[in-house]
Amino acid sequence: MIHLIRGFKDILPEEVALWQRIEAAARDLFERFGYGEIRIPIMEKTKLFARSIGEDTDIVEKEMYTFADRKGDLLTLRPEATASVVRAYIQHKLHAVDPAQKFYLIGPMFRRERPQKGRYRQFYQIDVEAFGIAAPHIDVQMIFMLHNLFNTLGVGDTQAQVNSLGCPACRPGYRQALTAFLDQVASQLCEDCLRRKDRNPLRVLDCKSPQCQQAVADAPAIVDHLCPACREHFDTVTRTLKTLKVPFELNKRLVRGLDYYTRTAFEMQTTALGAQSAVAGGGRYDGLVKALGGPDTPAIGFAIGFDRLAEIVGQLQQPPTSGPSLFIAALGPQAQQAAFEWLSRLGAGGMAVEMDYADRSLKAQMKRADRLNACHVLIVGAAELEKGAAVLRNMATKTQQDIPLDGLVKELETLIK
Ligand code: AMP
Repeated sequence: MIHLIRGFKDILPEEVALWQRIEAAARDLFERFGYGEIRIPIMEKTKLFARSIGEDTDIVEKEMYTFADRKGDLLTLRPEATASVVRAYIQHKLHAVDPAQKFYLIGPMFRRERPQKGRYRQFYQIDVEAFGIAAPHIDVQMIFMLHNLFNTLGVGDTQAQVNSLGCPACRPGYRQALTAFLDQVASQLCEDCLRRKDRNPLRVLDCKSPQCQQAVADAPAIVDHLCPACREHFDTVTRTLKTLKVPFELNKRLVRGLDYYTRTAFEMQTTALGAQSAVAGGGRYDGLVKALGGPDTPAIGFAIGFDRLAEIVGQLQQPPTSGPSLFIAALGPQAQQAAFEWLSRLGAGGMAVEMDYADRSLKAQMKRADRLNACHVLIVGAAELEKGAAVLRNMATKTQQDIPLDGLVKELETLIK
């Protein structure tokens, strides 16, 4: 037997119902706020990700599914969505119509990480991106939508963490102060961080190693080094979050290690899955559109870890799933044939309808109708065919009535809503 690839998973129909509910809530919310769905390929040229995510990140260094195609072109299964959305924004000159454009997308991402609980090699993200809006209000809108979505889904115990990463005006000064600090604690840093210290010192701040976390506990914080414009932007973000009653806390360690990440960075943290983990993360990336060859365009976005969110929502009490409106219990080949024709016509007309294709005993078929939680069962066997009327049973009230076979589909459509 051939099993699926390690770190990949199947999502079976029962679980898909939950995923669809989450997806519907997300679509509904984003569309109310003017975000349109964009669909992008799951594969891009490797250099798009190398350039946008950064050569010096874990993703690009060790986690991408990259291969040469038959002509030798290097291609990569997307590890995240932002790079492709930016590429599409530039390639289709969407900025020419109106630089302010808002998108969302839902789909699989691929990273060759070590598989563990809540961490997969094919996982799903709900991704939101907004271009061309420099105002801090859009930063608030991102966090507000996350908060609102989680509340709608009944997930109460998530907490937004926010930070500001400054901009090209104030970051270099901070970087210097941080590097000077890291030089002092160099002997306590892990091997990776020793390398990061000189190339990308901000990334040392979010190293997962407890030893490094302890070493940087007293490191200077970027929010204390913001230029006046970044300070004002961040103050407006936090003030407006308070006005809108979105709970958040300042996390001075929250960073994104790349130069084009600017100003607001945020994460939604939860303890619902045991250890504290991030269920969504995002931030401003005012420098990326230009870095990828487009016009100078402010931008911001976030990605929700769909698998983690589904797991959290799955732990909550679920609303009962409704079964088919009608189950047709047909006995004997002639009744089965008639039942299949009715089922096809009723299904095409909009009714949720099911039957037993194996022509089993009435008892077995009623049992199945019960298990599926069917609202009505139509019973038809040789006797009913002869009589010219089938029996319709309401499973909730247990009442039965005869339905003439002549004009049966129409009659059922008026009786069963
Ligand atoms: P990132 O794109 O790394 O900022 O991740 C955004 C969110 O996607 C995270 O907060 C996680 O919830 C989720 N995520 C990232 N990597 C994985 C993975 N390998 N498996 C499952 N979820 C993931």
